[in-house]
Amino acid sequence: MSLASALPIRPRRLVASLLALAAVLVCAFGATAASARAQVNWVVHGHGFGHGVGLSAYGAYGYALHGKGYKFILGHYYPGTTLGQISGPNVVRVLLSTTSGDVTFSEATSACHTKLEPTRTYEAHRLGNTVVLRSSGGKPLAKCGATLRAAGAGVLLAASPRLVRAASGKYEAMILACIDPRTQEPVCSYAAKHGLTGQYSQFAIAGAAIGVVAPKFADWHKTFWDNLATSIELHQVGKVIAIDHRDCGAAKIAYGEAAVADPARETETHRKALAQFREEVGKRHPNMAVETGLMALDGSMEMLG
Ligand SMILES: [Zn+2]
Repeated sequence: MSLASALPIRPRRLVASLLALAAVLVCAFGATAASARAQVNWVVHGHGFGHGVGLSAYGAYGYALHGKGYKFILGHYYPGTTLGQISGPNVVRVLLSTTSGDVTFSEATSACHTKLEPTRTYEAHRLGNTVVLRSSGGKPLAKCGATLRAAGAGVLLAASPRLVRAASGKYEAMILACIDPRTQEPVCSYAAKHGLTGQYSQFAIAGAAIGVVAPKFADWHKTFWDNLATSIELHQVGKVIAIDHRDCGAAKIAYGEAAVADPARETETHRKALAQFREEVGKRHPNMAVETGLMALDGSMEMLG
């Protein structure tokens, strides 16, 4: 089955934008949000959930409960498309939106050193790596640099081009890595090499996949699964990449010295943990792609599991 034609543009809603803003503040730009938090209070009002484009999972669920079939549901959310068979590679890329992802706001008294009329609506528009403040009609009012900051009565908004990308809500993967400081740079390089920079969420836990499956760390498991589910919901990640690493202290704690006493046994220990991890992901998210590997401290990766 395929969705064969370009999908229609749906206007972005303020609510969706605010929620996307909230999502980004929490997830994608933790450091920025944390430094901002030290200076101001963030007040974000919103309702509903999601990015406001394409198919609503809850909506589809509701229609299904009312006896509607997939043809009706797909036709409802993707008007103007046709259903058909495809041959060849089993990958269908679907254009969700061609909107710029502008963030709109009102009730602001100033933004980008420009006085604003609180009753009017303005938008933060991405232009290359910068943000332009525009009127709701699209007239450029000020150049804001990398981030637009708007102030109002107790409300402060910040929007950046990355935020705008977040509003479209589609990222590639979640990377599960160990907390070991030696793995930070190699994991980051691995992601960059695979074109994932800025396209993945990250969960760091002692042992990576071992932290998620070893009985020794049973108390942690739920936290990971909750975070993965949240990243699927917020970032629509379709893949999880678990990166265990050699000489991992957590592997020793979890399975004992003997289990990692030499490279061969260490490999086997991780192979088992990673296989279990794949199985657990499959149980919870059957359509999720899973990649599992064991990284040496020089950054080289051996796919296992
Ligand atoms: Zn480790």
